[in-house]
Amino acid sequence: MSDVIIIGGGPAGSTLGSYLSLAGIDNIILEQANHPRPHVGESLVTSTLVPFKEIGFLETMEREGFVKKFGAAWHAFSGNELSIPFKEWPHYGIDQDYTYHVDRSKFDHLLLKHAESLGSKVYQGVRVKQVLIEDGKAVGVRAQVGEAEFDLHAPIVVDASGRNTVLGRQLGIKDNDPIFNQYAVHTWFKGMKRSETDTGDYIHIYFLPVERGWAWQIPITDEITSVGVVAEREVFRQSHNDVAEFFNTYARSNPALSAALAPAEQINAFKTEADYSYKMQRFVGDGWLLVGDAARFVDPIFSSGVSVALFSAKLASEQIRRAFEMDDFSEAIFQPYEDRLLSGVQVWYEFIRLYYKLLPLFTHFIQSKEHRTQIQELLQGLVFDRKQVPVLDAMREYIKKVEASEHHLFKPQLTSVPID
Ligand code: FAD
Repeated sequence: MSDVIIIGGGPAGSTLGSYLSLAGIDNIILEQANHPRPHVGESLVTSTLVPFKEIGFLETMEREGFVKKFGAAWHAFSGNELSIPFKEWPHYGIDQDYTYHVDRSKFDHLLLKHAESLGSKVYQGVRVKQVLIEDGKAVGVRAQVGEAEFDLHAPIVVDASGRNTVLGRQLGIKDNDPIFNQYAVHTWFKGMKRSETDTGDYIHIYFLPVERGWAWQIPITDEITSVGVVAEREVFRQSHNDVAEFFNTYARSNPALSAALAPAEQINAFKTEADYSYKMQRFVGDGWLLVGDAARFVDPIFSSGVSVALFSAKLASEQIRRAFEMDDFSEAIFQPYEDRLLSGVQVWYEFIRLYYKLLPLFTHFIQSKEHRTQIQELLQGLVFDRKQVPVLDAMREYIKKVEASEHHLFKPQLTSVPID
């Protein structure tokens, strides 16, 4: 019997295991795959450095030579490019002006091994079939290895199973996002032409000429680049549900991306990601908590996912410590975790919503002296434990003005995304 059973050894599960072991709380991580295994989500925001530092993982990131991410660049289809280096950004508790792009198979494997080195008991190739609930309280899990099934018990079960959402599905508490229903196709290329304006290795985001359409370009090594195309699922349907046609049509629709891809050779099969925006009705219950994508997933336009996974693990570990101090594993004791995670991710969500409502607004605000710093704080993932985020109010006000005016320059670019 362990103190805590963690379902899933992705970034959220491994980071939670690390924090718990550092706090002297016995934990076990059950991972269905055998790492290394591929995963989408290859570009990190700077806030990830905080948990890395706290669990002693920053040294590993440096030693393993992940590509350093020095900034972000946005490309309109008109050819205009806006790039933002991290070095001018305010950092909280961070003393380096870059974060990382990662090959997730390597990154997730290293993080899982790190958790193990700190004390987590890690079992790979073990699939959790269900969480065991008795009298409304989670008491353990039923797991499967090959054909064999067995039960494990613990006073706390944490679901870190990512978009598999093991417990959320079991409890029927998953609500799909009412606005975002996007579809992504991605792969790796060798020999892609990287932007000449890169001073370091930036993430490049390309606007595509369809509503909520964009593409990413993420350097994985000196030679390999990840490229993904994202659009509303309906746009994919209009491409006759043909993955290659969808990718090629839209990747070539932005002249800068098309030129960068011209000399490149595709080295992986296409992978797809669908229906990935959702929220669980609750993140905690008696004897259980949800962390990372198992709790909520918001559109990945700002590369927020891994940061949210790591911070949710950090915040959950604080409440789990409290639960053991109080010898109380009830929903009430975990509630502050839910409140903090919910309000933090909601900041990302609002930012994303306002961004999609009026694309030029983002460019306008980032160039304005008044708002630039606040936008930068959001972009680096400074979303948790905030009482106010004035820049989001300012963006909403601006949009309302554009809506109300007859001749505003931006008016034709307003989209159908609701903002209230
Ligand atoms: P995961 O990384 O999914 O880990 C969950 C783990 O649980 C997996 O290892 C899985 O094998 C295991 N598991 C699942 N079910 C079971 C089970 N039943 N039993 C045992 N183990 C199980 N994020 C970024 O930060 N930057 C990006 O650039 C970015 N781009 C993205 C682009 C797209 C199109 C999408 C869809 C997402 C993107 N993300 C990005 C988000 C990122 O992928 C996730 O937010 C992140 O991986 C969440 O980590 P996690 O640990 O919660 O879940």
